[in-house]
Amino acid sequence: MQVFTSIIVVSIFAGIFIATDIKDYKTRKANSVASIAHIISANSITPLLFQDNNEAKKILTELKNTSPDIVNAVIIDSAAKIFAIYSRVDAGPLEISHFLNGKTTEFSGKQLFVSENIMNEKQLMGKVLLEVDLSELEAIKKSRYEMAVILLLAAAVLSFLIASIVQRYISRRLLYLVDKMKQVSVTGNYNTTIVDNGKDEIGTLIRVYNNLMEQVRESQHKKDEFIGIASHELKTPLTSIKGYLDLLNTMEERQPNKQFVQKASDSVTKLERLIKDLLDVSKIQSGQLQLNIKEFNIDELINETINSFQMVSESHTIVKEDGLHYEQVLADRQRIEQVLINLLSNAIKYSPGENKVLVKSKRDGDHLLIQVRDYGIGIAKDELSEIFERFYRTKDSSVHISGFGLGLYICRDIITRHGGTIWATKEPKGSSFYFTLPIQQNSVTNPSSNNSNN
Ligand code: ADP
Repeated sequence: MQVFTSIIVVSIFAGIFIATDIKDYKTRKANSVASIAHIISANSITPLLFQDNNEAKKILTELKNTSPDIVNAVIIDSAAKIFAIYSRVDAGPLEISHFLNGKTTEFSGKQLFVSENIMNEKQLMGKVLLEVDLSELEAIKKSRYEMAVILLLAAAVLSFLIASIVQRYISRRLLYLVDKMKQVSVTGNYNTTIVDNGKDEIGTLIRVYNNLMEQVRESQHKKDEFIGIASHELKTPLTSIKGYLDLLNTMEERQPNKQFVQKASDSVTKLERLIKDLLDVSKIQSGQLQLNIKEFNIDELINETINSFQMVSESHTIVKEDGLHYEQVLADRQRIEQVLINLLSNAIKYSPGENKVLVKSKRDGDHLLIQVRDYGIGIAKDELSEIFERFYRTKDSSVHISGFGLGLYICRDIITRHGGTIWATKEPKGSSFYFTLPIQQNSVTNPSSNNSNN
């Protein structure tokens, strides 16, 4: 658009310049030829008076040296008869018609026609008729057009260069902004501020974006603070309710009272778990989730967790395959147990009507790899990474299976803090959750564990 505009502007200016230049040239030429005609007319009075054709012809022939662009020059007498004539070697016949319209100067094609009356004391004695070749004007026109074309090309190239530099500057900043926005929408990390000192519209847009991010950060901070305080305040009364319910449960023998107490106790346990999760999330957000790293046997932990699940789960059998033996790790035992509990309870919760959950563990290079597999409702491919986000619940599960979408978020934080990774895959039926834990250099490894890998 910029290139197009500059071409139009330069064309207009070049057009005006050429038109003015040609007009000036024509005026100058007409004036100069008129002066020549005037001089010839003054010098022709005597030859006309004495009917001296030779003298008149001599005057005209002088033009060959003084004005070589005059093609034809004629002196006619008062009876319009040719008195003397001069023609350049290459001249064609003089076109008299151009002198019959009463004008003293006329431009026609590549010729200029000038006529001047020969007057002797107010008496018309004849006329001087001159035909001038304007090939010089053609040469001027040609050179001006060439100049205009060069100017146009130069303007187009220059404006293209300037436009592309400006465009690159603008698009670079716009693309950077779009990139940052995409990152925010994918990662949910609002701690992004863009530094830009531009005073233009894009600069304003970036400032608006920065302000928006600042507001989002502030409201997130307030929300996290509220969740932290609320869960903390709820924890104490809930613990005492749970204590009293446990007490009532042991004291109460009558049915259905005992059943009601048990139901109330189960609900409180659920609430307790939610509050624990909320407190963990709040700790993660404020960077206060501490790990209590100690050396322990991971295989033992897996067995213990499976057994405690097996005791309460009537619907599912948890099968352990290819187990590790005596694999010692340096990690926070309680937190790794929390991850295992979350994965196992999800495997059971999201496979209603099924009866099997598989746990596999093995050594994979310098990592331990643990897999929890179920045969349940599964997870759509495009949601496999999203489920680790805070409050994310899959479209399939959120309608009929209760949950808060916090467990996997906490699991991911715990595992990444240990230097491991956690991910989920889609299985032909159900899904698998994997997590790795690095084997510390100073961890004690029983040689039999290596055998189990082979
Ligand atoms: P919650 O189970 O409390 O909703 P999680 O963070 O543990 O929270 O899980 C997040 C979401 O991931 C769940 O809501 C569910 O949609 C999906 N999900 C987790 N585990 C499984 C699984 N084993 N099978 C199918 N979907 C699962």
